[in-house]
Amino acid sequence: MAEVEDKLKDYEIIREGEAEILQLKKNAVFFNPVQALAASGLRSLRYACEVDGLGKVVALDIDKASIECCKRNIKFNGASATSKVEAHVADARVYMLTHPKEFDVVDIDPYGSPSVFLDSAVQAVADGGLLMCTATDMAVLCGTNGEVCYSKYGSYPTKGKYCHEMALRILLASIESHANRYKRYIVPVLSVFMDFYVRVFVRVFTSASEIKNTPLKLSYIYQCVGCDSFHLQCLGRTISKNSTVKHAPAIGPVVPQECSDCGKKFNVGGPIWSAPIHDQDWVVSTLAGVKSMKDRYPAYDKITSVLTTVSEELHDAPLFFSLHNIAGTVKCMSPSLVMFRSAVLNAGYRISSTHVNPLGVKSDAPWDVIWDIMRCWVKNHPIKEQPHDSPGTAILSKSPTLEVDFSRAVAALSKAQMKKVKRFLPNPERHWGPKVRAGRKITSKHVSLLGPEAINSILNGAVSHEDGNGAALDKPAPEPEGIKDDEPSTKRQKTGDDEEANEP
Ligand SMILES: [Zn+2]
Repeated sequence: MAEVEDKLKDYEIIREGEAEILQLKKNAVFFNPVQALAASGLRSLRYACEVDGLGKVVALDIDKASIECCKRNIKFNGASATSKVEAHVADARVYMLTHPKEFDVVDIDPYGSPSVFLDSAVQAVADGGLLMCTATDMAVLCGTNGEVCYSKYGSYPTKGKYCHEMALRILLASIESHANRYKRYIVPVLSVFMDFYVRVFVRVFTSASEIKNTPLKLSYIYQCVGCDSFHLQCLGRTISKNSTVKHAPAIGPVVPQECSDCGKKFNVGGPIWSAPIHDQDWVVSTLAGVKSMKDRYPAYDKITSVLTTVSEELHDAPLFFSLHNIAGTVKCMSPSLVMFRSAVLNAGYRISSTHVNPLGVKSDAPWDVIWDIMRCWVKNHPIKEQPHDSPGTAILSKSPTLEVDFSRAVAALSKAQMKKVKRFLPNPERHWGPKVRAGRKITSKHVSLLGPEAINSILNGAVSHEDGNGAALDKPAPEPEGIKDDEPSTKRQKTGDDEEANEP
């Protein structure tokens, strides 16, 4: 016994959910506080311990030390874990390729980009099975290096406040493209942007006829470089004739050479997934399920806040804009969110929030309606004279065709706001974010980014910049409850962050 205790003295026990793992006190192996890679086996163990009726879990890692650690943790969790979880040193790609359609669930959660695993992952999922995929290379997906994103995911990102939702849609488009090669297609169940990564849950099916519809689910983005306007161009269309449906390329372009709102040019991005990114029925029923078993979820508040916001998103309005940004474009004081939502609803269009950004607004209103609302707002809240060639001046030079009604509409508050359900929660701790990749040297850069306490306490903190993960260190999203929806916010000028689009 003393021998065992002696062996264990170098380890600490980390508990998450129903699983416990041993971790070396000075562990060089990657450990992520939210979720684990096969590295420690934590997630595999949680599946085994917490999911009823589960047959077998296979944990894969190419690193021998990780699998040894994983095996130790399997033993540590007792007979139920040893009977269900097996761990192998293997290249996950080869393993998945040699086990086609064998797994009901495949979970890809690599450090950085999942792009190299997608092709084999879509083949390993059984028909109707679930593929879960995480990407932490947010800087790539959000367009810091558009060409890198194109090389990894086959899609060109444009720059806009919607970038994190675009990241989800680029990942979905990429998975769909890999699936199509094997006569398979995806149906998204849930797609979320959380803290510093995106994670998608998609079901995979096989159907040679359904894959003909893929172009209808993808779009190019035209992003104006002068103002906030963006337009989607679907890749395909269908023609119905004598009860048969034919597929054809879409007719374009959907925009003129110059932006009809401000006169500037467009950047073209995509293709992105422009079909729904969540299964709304599933989200609503899961939310109800979670609420009925509150005690079983330690992260109850976080889960319900995300699912509530997701359930309220307009599922047929891809991407979003920020109210503060459009106010910044015309250099005016921003109307309150409630007033703006009311104006859109009173004009006969729909509007919703987005789980991606507390200040984001999704709407099916065309851009001339959005700008008309701002024109009418500026009429009542005059602004200083602006440079004659600015996009804002061009937008305001037109007279509004719409008579905008800012009176409070009944549906101007989301249901969650009315019920006072928290929709966005602050991060649980300081320096919240991915830790350093196993075996990487900690530099002064890491210390300055994550703080000395974080480095000292866990010794393996910081972010890999190998994949350009700088975006992961973005400040946490501001808590919207701090923003008074009824009060117009103080005047806010455009910042460098807003002027991301480049003149071609
Ligand atoms: Zn424009």
